[in-house]
Amino acid sequence: MASKNPKFIFVFGGVMSGIGKGIATSSIAKIIQSRGFKVSAIKIDPYINVDAGTMNPTEHGEVFVLDSGLETDQDMGNYERFLDITLPAANYMTTGSVYQKVINRERNLEYKGKCVQIIPHVTGEIIASIENAAKVNDSDLVIIEVGGTTGDYENDLFTEAARQMRMNHPGDVLYVMLSFVPYPSKVGEMKTKPTQQAARSLNSAGIQPDIIIARSEQVIDEKRKEKIALFCNIRKEEVISAPDVESIYEIPLNFESDNLSEKILKKLGMKPKKTNLEDWKMLVERIKKSKKEIKVGIVGKYFGTGECILSDAYISVIEAIKHASFANNRKPIIDWINSEEFEKDPKSVKKLSNYDGLIVPGGFGTRGIEGKINAIQYARENKIPYLGLCYGMQLMVIEFARNVLGIKDANTTEINPNTKSPIIDIMPEQKSKLENNDYGATMRLGGYPCIINKNTIAFSSYKKTEITERHRHRYEVNPDFIEELEKSGMIFSGKSPNKILMEIAELPQKVHPFMVGSQFHPEFTSSPLNPNPLFLSFIKAASKK
Ligand code: GLN
Repeated sequence: MASKNPKFIFVFGGVMSGIGKGIATSSIAKIIQSRGFKVSAIKIDPYINVDAGTMNPTEHGEVFVLDSGLETDQDMGNYERFLDITLPAANYMTTGSVYQKVINRERNLEYKGKCVQIIPHVTGEIIASIENAAKVNDSDLVIIEVGGTTGDYENDLFTEAARQMRMNHPGDVLYVMLSFVPYPSKVGEMKTKPTQQAARSLNSAGIQPDIIIARSEQVIDEKRKEKIALFCNIRKEEVISAPDVESIYEIPLNFESDNLSEKILKKLGMKPKKTNLEDWKMLVERIKKSKKEIKVGIVGKYFGTGECILSDAYISVIEAIKHASFANNRKPIIDWINSEEFEKDPKSVKKLSNYDGLIVPGGFGTRGIEGKINAIQYARENKIPYLGLCYGMQLMVIEFARNVLGIKDANTTEINPNTKSPIIDIMPEQKSKLENNDYGATMRLGGYPCIINKNTIAFSSYKKTEITERHRHRYEVNPDFIEELEKSGMIFSGKSPNKILMEIAELPQKVHPFMVGSQFHPEFTSSPLNPNPLFLSFIKAASKK
């Protein structure tokens, strides 16, 4: 039974972004959950975008799709993976979604002629959304991650709502600040000043952090802890050291070595129950013991920012590979392969023989597509285990149509709207949406059922005939070509219940050890304790190569 009096923890970022606030939030949630409490997590994204579906993955990272179909921030994926739960749409909000609600209420005269103001109406909407999420999830504790860094104009509103929440729920609200403690090699000493400034910036918004998690390359020494405590107005035990780690899944255990869950429960007046982190400890042990490598190549078009490649755009795919590899006692080595390379130099595709398995992940648009098709042909002809995710499945079908059926101009209408052989075509209900520039949240999104045929790789992976997986697409395998594809050996082993949408395509194992593509995104339902079945059998096949 969850509590009628839920507790709330707000997590703020100090100093800078990109230091693992999502993972810290997930890890705090995990250690409280492991003490027998019902925990859920909320992500606040301080953007005007109403959801993450229209945000650029280069800037914002992967769009994580919830079972409900809401397109959200990748941190929602972290929460689901750490907590092994399915989060509802109520657990994600953006500045845009909050304003949209307020403006709709205003149009409906719900404020009864009052002047509608940022404070209290917008902040009130934020608070109501958080309280509602606690109710929807029936939570003992809700942890709320405020995106961005303290002092940003953009998250001021949410910081203010967090401040008001403590007034509304005295004794039930805790503030955690995640900070960064740099260790400049030339200085030879860890510097706490940025943390002090960040705490001061929160103070000026009326918030005193209760706990400071200090991220650093190394363990924070006692002297630095004392300094942070003194200047940030907390006790030394409330400074938690969070050094860099090999695997993110170690972090809950690291927090517990500082007794963090006990400190939090005490502050919130929650009765500590015995910790059960046994499964998690075994997982971390298995990760550390998995020494035999498995090489997986992800062939995509890459999202670069300056000189860097942002792997964040495929974070769920990477994590799903890791989960399945660890379960197979393998250490995954993941390489990024830019498909445009194979367009410039088709012979270079040979380098793919170095991989135990290849993945073409989801994507949109024209860039790098022909290179991906070359890579898929190479995987098929050279019997390299292949997993195609969404676009990767569609392109697998196109490659098969071109090179096995001999339909040379086979294509998707996403690339060539006038192709005579639209093997992949836009779903009828999607057409008018695009014509009207109606892009936001209009794809086929979220969890839909898929019926699986027996005696297929799909069935031997999932071991059942009905599954639900999450989707995010506008195009599908064109029903007009299915008979022809099947005659030449392609198997559609998973279909929508009305048999119209092809959900899983595969080749018989007598011709290829593992050539499978799914219209859905299996990566969204993988967690370290419950790896996704399709990834598991892909990695199993790849370990045999
Ligand atoms: N662009 C393709 C479609 O819209 C695939 C989408 C994806 O890979 N998520 O159907």
